[in-house]
Amino acid sequence: MFSNTEDSKTKLSELGEFGLIDHLTKHFSIQQSSTLKSIGDDAAVLEHKDPIVVTTDMLVEGIHFDLSYSPLKHLGYKAVMVNLSDVYAMNAKATQITVSISCSNRFTVEALEELYAGIHHAASLYNIDVVGGDTTSAIKGLSISITAIGTAKKEKITYRSGAKPNDLVVVSGDLGSAFMGLKVLEREKEVFKVNPNSQPDLEKYTYLVERQLKPEARKDIPELLEKLGVLPTAMIDISDGLSSEIIHISKNSNVGANLFEDKLPMDPALIATCEEFELDSTTVVLNGGEDYELLFTIDQKDYDKIKGNPNLSVIGHITEAKEGIHLITRANQKLPIQAMGWNSMDKEEN
Ligand SMILES: [Mg+2]
Repeated sequence: MFSNTEDSKTKLSELGEFGLIDHLTKHFSIQQSSTLKSIGDDAAVLEHKDPIVVTTDMLVEGIHFDLSYSPLKHLGYKAVMVNLSDVYAMNAKATQITVSISCSNRFTVEALEELYAGIHHAASLYNIDVVGGDTTSAIKGLSISITAIGTAKKEKITYRSGAKPNDLVVVSGDLGSAFMGLKVLEREKEVFKVNPNSQPDLEKYTYLVERQLKPEARKDIPELLEKLGVLPTAMIDISDGLSSEIIHISKNSNVGANLFEDKLPMDPALIATCEEFELDSTTVVLNGGEDYELLFTIDQKDYDKIKGNPNLSVIGHITEAKEGIHLITRANQKLPIQAMGWNSMDKEEN
């Protein structure tokens, strides 16, 4: 971490395009029976009984990640999580991914091995197959594009558009931590620029930094809901921030929502670090991105099934569209929720 030197090891040109992809994927094994043919032919062949969901996401160096503090292995892992999160947000099971990367000759074979080690780790942990991909050279930087494929019974697929007035708004895990992890890493990067011999002491921020660098997609939540016999009425994953996602659900479902400040799930490390940075923790929870938690709505009759579950927090309820989207503060004020997203939040601070 915070090392600017790239050891020149094996140059990418030494393996050539075909040698490289074979080399990088040679340890990948097949876990899904729906994968009839993986890497090694013109195209992969998949066989799914039920509808398939497909999603794709691209991560670009300098826009979505900074290699001065993102280890390549974590980056590979995160790139997979970002995509799986969208599959789980459809209440589906993720089964396959394809991975394409472009990179400049500043990257060595060993660097790409690290990236693929993270991808491999994510794939085996989440029980998905890497069934294809491409590598190509670029003038500058590194880009990773992943397409994820999943499947679900037609009646279980959950859209953003199904929320109804009086439904409860539920979120998994806790929010805001990934954003504060980013704040900590950016602060340490500035310290390192001034004094390259300084070693960052990140111990008390471990949880936050992990949430930023190595997030976990919530594979367990659709499984848990299935077990509890709860079918969400609408669902979305939190990539841009709670505000922006509740607005997506409200607009797509043509409803309003009230969220309660005192119900927003926060980790103690988040609260302490917000105090240290003099940031309002509620603002961070609403607008900090990259939590990759799931935000969903359920019928009130299902409340008893999820009540007290440590993975889930009920944070509000759905209203009629004309009532708008509001945060009810601890002081019982009703504030309109606007989408800021983590990018614009950064801009406001500068
Ligand atoms: Mg999403």
